[in-house]
Amino acid sequence: MTKTISILGSTGSIGRQTLDVAEQLGLQVAALTAHASIERMEEQARRFRPRLAVLTDEAAARDLTVRLADTGTKVLGGPQGLEEAAALPEADTIVTAVVGMVGLRPTLTAIREKKRIALANKETLVCAGELVMDAADTYGAEIIPVDSEHSAIFQCLQGCRDRREIRRLILTCSGGPFYGMTCEEVGKMTRADALRHPNWTMGPKITVDCATLMNKGLEVIEAMRLYRLPLEQVSVVIHRQSIVHSLVEYWDGAVLAQLGTPDMRLPIRYAMTYPARGESLAKPLDLTACPPLTFAAPDRATFPCLHLAEEAAAEGGTACAILNGANEEAVRLFLQERIGFYDISHLTAKARSAVSVVQKPSLEDILEADAAARRCVLGD
Ligand code: NDP
Ligand code: MG
Repeated sequence: MTKTISILGSTGSIGRQTLDVAEQLGLQVAALTAHASIERMEEQARRFRPRLAVLTDEAAARDLTVRLADTGTKVLGGPQGLEEAAALPEADTIVTAVVGMVGLRPTLTAIREKKRIALANKETLVCAGELVMDAADTYGAEIIPVDSEHSAIFQCLQGCRDRREIRRLILTCSGGPFYGMTCEEVGKMTRADALRHPNWTMGPKITVDCATLMNKGLEVIEAMRLYRLPLEQVSVVIHRQSIVHSLVEYWDGAVLAQLGTPDMRLPIRYAMTYPARGESLAKPLDLTACPPLTFAAPDRATFPCLHLAEEAAAEGGTACAILNGANEEAVRLFLQERIGFYDISHLTAKARSAVSVVQKPSLEDILEADAAARRCVLGD
């Protein structure tokens, strides 16, 4: 069980909920990192007294150094601070809760230091899942998923000693705020519309990914990497209520599911205490008060990002890094209200056709594929 954690991305939605869980469990905090949220980082550092606080924005880090001068916390600036935070010897668990591919290098660092990785940062597994999982095997580092669907699958796989017993994984998908709309209606949706998720409160990037269904596409790839299964064995079902968090179907016909109220503090806590369980901060599920649980097939024509992700998953190599890099840049443009909703899938598809795929990629190949996809979206 975890005693001391470091959180990469502590000021975000997952980061803040992780600190609530850390407080509940009485964990020590070794390092906290964020990009530029000075006020929130100062408040967290005063409350949790970490040895190290990192802001990747250098100017913000200089400001924070002054603010924390009366505390014992050392402040570092710049992206390399993430790797220092990932490597601090006193932390046994690193929670990767940064958004985007920036999580890749520090995750590899934490793996080399044999830490338990409580992994929320799905973009890292999407871009470099094979490299990351191979490194985890080589160094004997545990990767415990925090993403609710993957945590559900992880829980349903407890006791399964042979992966060949699995027929398929079934990822549930809320369908997002535009579920049931026509293409014409979806095309008019704005940033504000996309940021209104029906069941979860999350950071802006993943919330937009939920509206396009790219999030589910990224999660299909994440599941393939975590459980080393081909695309044919990972399916998606729409489940509007977000009560069934995902399922595992075995060859004997048994289908195991994990249910719970939609609250990330449950999977976060499980990643800390695994294999033990205890009382989480999530509200207990009252089955008799639940709405009826419904299941339906996803609409890949209205939400083309899911299909784009499945195509990249099938192609393999750097295809997923290209998909992810293009999507990150396109979502950034959408959040800045510079492009429309369907431009996200158009620009991602454009980058996928423009950037050539390298099979069996090295870390450098992956970083180059990511950069090329971003350049393509930005028109450089
Ligand atoms: P948020 O946007 O809420 O938080 C992101 C965190 O990362 C913040 O601490 C932010 O710092 C930091 N950050 C952002 N950009 C950079 C950068 N370039 N370099 C270093 N740090 C950076 O995101 P979420 O918490 O919603 O999501 C985090 C990850 O978890 C994502 O990969 C997401 O897909 C995954 N996830 C999230 C879920 C959720 O419920 N939120 C559910 C399942 C998975 P600052 O505040 O300074 O910007
Ligand atoms: Mg999820």
